[in-house]
Amino acid sequence: MRSAFTINGVDVRPGSRAIVNLMLPKLNSHTTLSMPVQVVHGRQDGPRLFVCAALHGDEVNGVEIIRQILELGSLKRLHGTLVAVPVVNVYGMIHQSRYLPDRRDLNRSFPGSEAGSMTARVAHLFMSEIVGRCTHGIDLHTGAIHRSNLPQIRANLDDPETERLARAFGVPVLLNASLRDGSLRQAAAEHGIPMLLYEAGEALRYDDLAIRAGVHGVVQVIRELGMLPRLNRRRHPVEPFIARSSSWVRAPDSGMLRTKIRLGALVQNNDVLGYVSDPYSGESATVYAHARGVVIGRMQSPMVHEGEALFHIARFKDDIDEVVGQVESFHLTHADDDDG
Ligand SMILES: [Zn+2]
Repeated sequence: MRSAFTINGVDVRPGSRAIVNLMLPKLNSHTTLSMPVQVVHGRQDGPRLFVCAALHGDEVNGVEIIRQILELGSLKRLHGTLVAVPVVNVYGMIHQSRYLPDRRDLNRSFPGSEAGSMTARVAHLFMSEIVGRCTHGIDLHTGAIHRSNLPQIRANLDDPETERLARAFGVPVLLNASLRDGSLRQAAAEHGIPMLLYEAGEALRYDDLAIRAGVHGVVQVIRELGMLPRLNRRRHPVEPFIARSSSWVRAPDSGMLRTKIRLGALVQNNDVLGYVSDPYSGESATVYAHARGVVIGRMQSPMVHEGEALFHIARFKDDIDEVVGQVESFHLTHADDDDG
């Protein structure tokens, strides 16, 4: 018989589920706070996968993705263990903020330390209770406030196991992102744990496509890991393309932005992406693309300041028309897809 999964001193028996509350530093009012973790411990051996969301407290699409995954009846047949953390940054969510009360960014504070800043302590708790007990991970994010992302995976694609899982996720764009100092991804990599970062939609909003593609992607990774049976249909309906680099086009002036380009569009160098208008004189500054590529992130608010990041353009080695074709077929697939 498989042994129990122990977390925070709680034993979760094989074939059972439990919600375990990890105690966090109290609020200054002395109110206690915890980070609830749901463990689904399968009867059979297998990988131990953590899936977490709202590490930035205002990025909520992942909370709904995890809710839908935990409702799947097929989890009764799970091999291995699913460790789901719907809200990592509990403090941030209360304030609808990306940060913690000490104004630090949790995703720049890993691996953290027991005696460090408040944020460092939360990072340390997450490393010891979640990452340290798992073999694989998926971290669910969205764009920043007022910025929306085309569903994409960011991962270290130079690692073959990570690349295999990234392809299985089934989004059209993979970003071979370098490891950012202090990120969860870097800390997990240092523990030898392959981890994917899913980016889709924008902060403080539910986005149906981002949620559907996220649920589908996490389930595909669970299948690829052998934790649930693989499906017999075509292996990956979306063949992803790997971006070799990406950069933001910034506002040439302050004012009101009119956008001419949608997420996922192909743009050529010097294409017009939008206009920033002076609301009084009606004069406009034109925003031009600075490269040929695909728009993977976009400003949603019309109110912009000079220098603000407006359009995120990814560049590809592959034939770029094919990338755009895949983005379109991805949108069609997920437009009427409700199989989870
Ligand atoms: Zn984030």
